[in-house]
Amino acid sequence: GFNCGIVGLPNVGKSTLFNALTKSGIEAANFPFCTIEPNTGIVPMPDPRLDALAEIVNPERTLPTTMEFVDIAGLVAGASKGEGLGNQFLANIRETEAIAHVVRCFEDDNVIHVANHVDPRADIETINIELALSDLGTVEKALTRLVRAAKGGDKEAIAVKALFERIQPHLAEGQPLRSFGLTDDEKALVRGYGFLTLKPTMYIANVSEDGFENNPYLDIVREIAASEEAEVVAVCNKLEAEIAELDDEEEKAMFLEELGMEEAGLDRVIRAGYKLLGLQTYFTAGVKEVRAWTVKVGATAPQAAAAIHTDFEKGFIRAEVISYDDFIEFKGESGAKEAGKWRLEGKSYIVQDGDVMHFRFNV
Ligand code: GDP
Repeated sequence: GFNCGIVGLPNVGKSTLFNALTKSGIEAANFPFCTIEPNTGIVPMPDPRLDALAEIVNPERTLPTTMEFVDIAGLVAGASKGEGLGNQFLANIRETEAIAHVVRCFEDDNVIHVANHVDPRADIETINIELALSDLGTVEKALTRLVRAAKGGDKEAIAVKALFERIQPHLAEGQPLRSFGLTDDEKALVRGYGFLTLKPTMYIANVSEDGFENNPYLDIVREIAASEEAEVVAVCNKLEAEIAELDDEEEKAMFLEELGMEEAGLDRVIRAGYKLLGLQTYFTAGVKEVRAWTVKVGATAPQAAAAIHTDFEKGFIRAEVISYDDFIEFKGESGAKEAGKWRLEGKSYIVQDGDVMHFRFNV
């Protein structure tokens, strides 16, 4: 699946966020394995379109698509040098596809701050330096081998070596590779190295209940994020934990309204993670099941079919497609067909967000 690692200094609210995220997942009874490992949670992707489709199709059940979040605790200054089980945590981050970096933007004298005062800029720097130094270690280790291979005339080794020698000083300064300006070709060249600072990253500013506006801490996070072309999601994790406790949807809606919020902050976090990973949703809409599926933006119809089953990709013949808007406007498949909005697409069709699809395949 697609996953996002939650990182940040100790005591910034990571676990609170993670628990709220996984708690919100539990009520989706169709996912009995919400927590795979203690630190991994599968979270349903909120999508009102699913309900709209279900209202038309009236299926036995509806299933949202999901995202995986991994709580990566214990990242401290010195982690890249093995401080505080640092290497283990860095290895955990390497396995995730995107990073949600939680930053403390709330004041609370009862919650100890590792550096004794709230300072988002210094906190972000501390984490980013550890990640950059970890990547520097990767570069340096690889270089010894690359130098040898380059001498032997290995073309790829020559190219990677030259690139690594250019990025080495950047990383040594604690700067993320994200901001180095690698070309797509260069990114492809280094893909196998799993650089942490090249992973798509968003900042989650953990603010206090009244800290969404006029909050200088939040402004600092926004400023840093803008310079890295990263996204910021402001949430109050403490509040989210309370919201996640509410089992009743109506109660939840009332609570949110009282707070003047349109949706839970968690939903914004999940959506932002989805966007960060370059993902989109398509639907299958049968009487048994209306279901949302996740594919990368730009995926072809056979690749989308693979989300359901690998055999669907191998034996792909054609995809029947109705866009979401048409499906809703013409109240289902037969209506869309009559209106000429039902299409038969081939192997090279690029799936669009919201497509309602049915695959034809050979077994
Ligand atoms: P972690 O070490 O980053 O996982 O941090 P935790 O989630 O364990 O939170 C550390 C402490 O901060 C706990 O006592 C939380 O209850 C508290 N905390 C987390 N989020 C907030 C928040 O938004 N506001 C306040 N006041 N406290 C929070």
